[in-house]
Amino acid sequence: MSLNETPSSERIHIGFFGMRNAGKSSVVNAVTGQKLALVSDVKGTTTDPVQKAMELLPLGPVVIIDTPGIDDEGELGAMRVERAKNALAKVDIALLVVDGAVGLRTPDETLITEFKSRKIPYIVVFNKSDLLEKSDTEQTEGADSHEQSIYVSAENGQNIHELKEKIAHLGKTVHNEKKLVGDLIDQGDTVILVTPIDESAPKGRLILPQQQMIRDILDHGGINIVVQVDQLESALKNCAVKPRMVITDSQAFKEVSRIVPEDIPLTSFSILFARYKGELSAFVNGADALDKLQDGDKVLLSEGCTHHRQCNDIGTVKLPAWIRKYTGKELEFAWSSGTEFPSDLSAYTLVIHCGGCMLNEREIHSRIDRAVAEGVPITNYGTCIAKMNGILDRSLQVLH
Ligand code: SF4
Repeated sequence: MSLNETPSSERIHIGFFGMRNAGKSSVVNAVTGQKLALVSDVKGTTTDPVQKAMELLPLGPVVIIDTPGIDDEGELGAMRVERAKNALAKVDIALLVVDGAVGLRTPDETLITEFKSRKIPYIVVFNKSDLLEKSDTEQTEGADSHEQSIYVSAENGQNIHELKEKIAHLGKTVHNEKKLVGDLIDQGDTVILVTPIDESAPKGRLILPQQQMIRDILDHGGINIVVQVDQLESALKNCAVKPRMVITDSQAFKEVSRIVPEDIPLTSFSILFARYKGELSAFVNGADALDKLQDGDKVLLSEGCTHHRQCNDIGTVKLPAWIRKYTGKELEFAWSSGTEFPSDLSAYTLVIHCGGCMLNEREIHSRIDRAVAEGVPITNYGTCIAKMNGILDRSLQVLH
């Protein structure tokens, strides 16, 4: 994805599901106008979910996810079905593609139950309407927007436009209206952002969360002052008006909190992002578990992507060292990255997740829900660092 495009985490994720003979990938291609997936006469050609960011009019920036058939068989087939189901964790809108000539079958109905229990708005797309009598394709609308259906033909394009309109309508209901920081500042306020440029910073640019914060401040009429830690003191001195707040990279929390006077609110990128994605209270509660860790406890450090470009060695080296020092306990650490969040968390006493800038809100929520359901506390890097530095309360005050 180019740096000028909407980040994946901010896009509505639309998942296409269905049985192997429903013509799902052909519907994906008809809706997107692109050859997103392999289409073949051979049943079950799609193996791993195929994911692509694109503009889908009239909705806007989305991520389309085409999943393998949910009725696949054999050992490999079972793996594909598992992967299709895993994709549910990040889907904001689900499209269930059904062979219109056959109608809903048991795997479809099981999926619908799954959509409902996860509160995923969905559309049932009866494909192959070109093979049906007109009387068989009368539109059936459910009582609410969660139960919509439409007859389409990927073959001749019938009702594809109408299907896109329905997707756009559902998209409006899931759009995130929350603000990163815009609701905490007034027009003309100055906000100081502390962004250390060290060896882990990408060459020639700021990282995504920093870019998004700067943009949100500008969108709400605020003034950004972006500094490194060693420039903070003089930036504060040079400010004619008291800054509304200081937002720092979590790793610089300790030093920054010493420099910023108590009467200037201080928080972190990580805490504001956790609030934005609705995860903050779970993470703040989870951070309490740091004080209860015992020798031999196992802590899972989970990262949302595999390339570590932006987070470097924080999860692998720095955090384990800080946690050992803070707790004084002999702890065992384990790691997961990308989509490999463990389905069984029972071995862990605490889960510490990265900022999750590459994951959408739904995926992070499903990870939190899984941890909460298993009774395992979960927090994130930034909240954990603030807690260990004794400034968690201070960094939350700005939100009240
Ligand atoms: S998803 Fe997590 S590990 Fe990957 S760059 Fe974002 S915060 Fe770092």
